[in-house]
This record gives sequence, C-alpha cells and structure tokens, in this order.
Amino acid sequence: MKKKLLKIIGVLVAGWLLVTLIWFGFDLDGRLDWNIGTQYAQKDSTDNYSASELEKIEKGPKVLYGINVDSFNVTQERVKANQFLTDILQPHGVSYATVDAIGRHWKDTFDVRRMRANHKYTVISKKDDAKTPAYFIYEIDNTDYVVYNLNDTLFAYRGKKPLKIIRKETAGLIDNSLYLTLEEQGASPALAVELSEVYAWAVDFYRIQKGDWFKVIYDEKWVDGQRVGIGKIYAALFNHHNQDYYAIYFDEDGQGGSYYDENNKSCRRSFLKAPLKFFRISSPYSLRRKHPVTGKVKGHFGTDYAAARGTPIMSTANGTVIEAQRKTYNGIYVKIKHNSVYTTQYLHMSKIADGIRPGVRVKQGQTIGYVGSTGQATGPHVCYRFWQNGVQVDSRKVKIPPAENIKKEYEDAYAKHKKEWLKKLEEIDKSWEEKNDATQVQAAVH
Ligand SMILES: [Zn+2]
Repeated sequence: MKKKLLKIIGVLVAGWLLVTLIWFGFDLDGRLDWNIGTQYAQKDSTDNYSASELEKIEKGPKVLYGINVDSFNVTQERVKANQFLTDILQPHGVSYATVDAIGRHWKDTFDVRRMRANHKYTVISKKDDAKTPAYFIYEIDNTDYVVYNLNDTLFAYRGKKPLKIIRKETAGLIDNSLYLTLEEQGASPALAVELSEVYAWAVDFYRIQKGDWFKVIYDEKWVDGQRVGIGKIYAALFNHHNQDYYAIYFDEDGQGGSYYDENNKSCRRSFLKAPLKFFRISSPYSLRRKHPVTGKVKGHFGTDYAAARGTPIMSTANGTVIEAQRKTYNGIYVKIKHNSVYTTQYLHMSKIADGIRPGVRVKQGQTIGYVGSTGQATGPHVCYRFWQNGVQVDSRKVKIPPAENIKKEYEDAYAKHKKEWLKKLEEIDKSWEEKNDATQVQAAVH
C-alpha cells in the first residue's frame, strides 16, 4: 500500500519535472538527478512581478509585435494539434494563393512545416466589412516570432520580443522535495541547476542535507510577463554541513568572469597531476597496448604509476567515494565521483585507507589507499582512470578549465567588488529563522 503510494508520487513528480524541463527547454546532461528539498523565501514574489508585468503589457498604446493595432481587430489563439496553416488562415479570408506563397516563397524566413501545436498565433485584420486580413504572426518560441504582412504585397520578417532582466534575491532552507516546493514558492527550477554548477566543486548536491541553506542574488529573464529563464548569478552563499561557501561572480578583464570565494580563491578546482607524490609512469593511457599479464592487445584506458608497495595514493580532487572494494581484475580499488562531469578510479591497491567507503567525502590530496599489486598486475603500481561525462579519457591530456585565483593586479578591484556583494548577501533575510522564533514564542506561551 505504502509502496503503491510512493510509486504514484514518483510518477507525479516525474511528470511535473518533465513538463518543467520541456517548458524551460534546458539540456540535461544528467545534471538534474539530485533531488533535494528547498523552501524558498523570495523577497520579490514572482507572482507580483508576473501580474505587474502583464498589466504593463496590457496598458499603454496597443502595440503588438511592433505593430500599432489600435485600428485593427486582433485574434489570438494557439495552434491546435494537426492544424495546418491553411486551416488557420482560410477562415480569416486569406486566399489559398497567399497561404501557398507563405509556405514556399518565405521558407527561408520561417518554414511553416515547423509550426507546432500550442504555439501562439495572432491574426490582425482591418475593421472593414470584409475584415481584410493584414498581418499573421506566429510565435516560434518564448522570444522569437515571425510576422507575415498580408497587405498588398506579401512579405515576412522575424522579430524578437523584448527581454526583460529582473534582479532577484532568494534565500532557501533545504527541506525535502525540491521541485514541488520550488513550484509552490514561484522560484524557477532552472535556478537550482545554475546553482549546482556554480557549486559543483564545493557542495555535493547528491548529499545535500536537511538544514543546509543558501542565499542567492541573480537575474531572471522575462518575456511578455512570463519567466523564460535564469540570467547571471551574481553572488551566492551556500551553508552546507554548517560551513559557509561563498561564490561571487567577478569579471576582471571583461573577458567573461568566474566565481571566487571570500578568500580570493576560485570556486573551481583543478585536479592533481597524479595520484602519487613520487612516481614513474610505467604504462601510459593507450588505445592499443600489449597487456603485461595476458599478452593480449587491447586498449589501456588508464595511466599506470609505479611506486613502492604501501605508498599513499591520493584523491586527485574533492569528491565522494562511490566504490571501495575488491574485484578480480581491478584488485582492491576506489572510485570517486567529483561532480556531475568527472569521476576517477584507483586500482590494484594493497589496501584501502581507513574510513574510505562509499558515501564518504574526500578532499583533494587525501590518502584513499596504498599502492599494491592486487588484481591483474605484474608489480606494485596504481592504475589511474579518469572519466569525463561518462567517457574514459587520458587524464594527462584532458583539458580542464583552469582554477585560477584572483590575480595580484586585480586584488584591489575584487576586494571592493566582494565587499559590496557580501553586504548584499548579508542583507537578505533568512525568513525561516523568524518562523522558528515564532514557534518558540508560541511554545513558551502554552
Ligand atoms: Zn593500468
């Protein structure tokens, strides 16, 4: 009975998530498979924005898609399933010849075969007896549309609705069911995705726990009174396991910025060059090599670092242990997931370091095991394997964005910038704390 209920809830959540994803149209890359809960407390409710935005659009001179429609009749509808351009335009008195010309001669502007159900269209017609059609507009997506001018000589052009950027501040206390709470609070799930990228190295989003909280200052993109996406995240504070993680966006030279913490350190991390301090490469990554034990020629998808038995093996970056066990060929090994992109593995250990087991967080340089020759190995070495987006790559050749800290020459500029944004973060209320206080007061009265 309980299982069935959980299943139903699961299906509902999955359905809602799917609809959201389609709506926002972001690509996944498996970045969304962390399901944490969040309570949002927004300083500016998106509902209010939405209403006032709508009001603004409805008031003022009646301009639609850049056309002054005061002296016209306007019909706005959505394309129905299996509805063709002819079905839409002929009832408005557009001739078959014109519909045909729209499809043929203006194909480069927009191919009408790409019209999709549920997209909005507008027919603007004259207020004469014949209600002569003057314009037909089809919305390609949230921002782009195509206008067909049906007056005299047919011509078509594309347009973009004005994009409005609205600065937002949000503070959230992590609870249990992210997406439903996000929806309730009117915050965009796209924000969660963006935050997980900013904090990819600092916070393990697969292990976010109840009581974690965050503050964030960011831009929302609005079109036509509707939120269409997230813009830049300017500054954020994530409190994870009672530790503060700051991320402040700073563009030092106008070449595209990056996120830094309160100590001028980059929020990104790079990998150690090798999992051992002192080593000799005994066998490089290669797509073809003769196996030293089996003699068979096949790919070697790792780099072998030879060292004395018992030499400590280090995790090459911060991450979470996902496997720590013994297998026939790998011998004793540890596998570490660093974030949604990178995973590393260390084979043939003599033993695993104390406390290293699945679920444990490890820091860059932390000892996770000791060199050995367990499994299929001729002598003591560690076979180091590296995955990028699920594909095994050569750890010595993979290009990882550099994790440069604030450079000397920009220290003053960053100090000023940082001060301003830390203050702004400080000023955001943690509304959930007030709630707790209220509960305590009530409890005291009873
Ligand atoms: Zn190897």
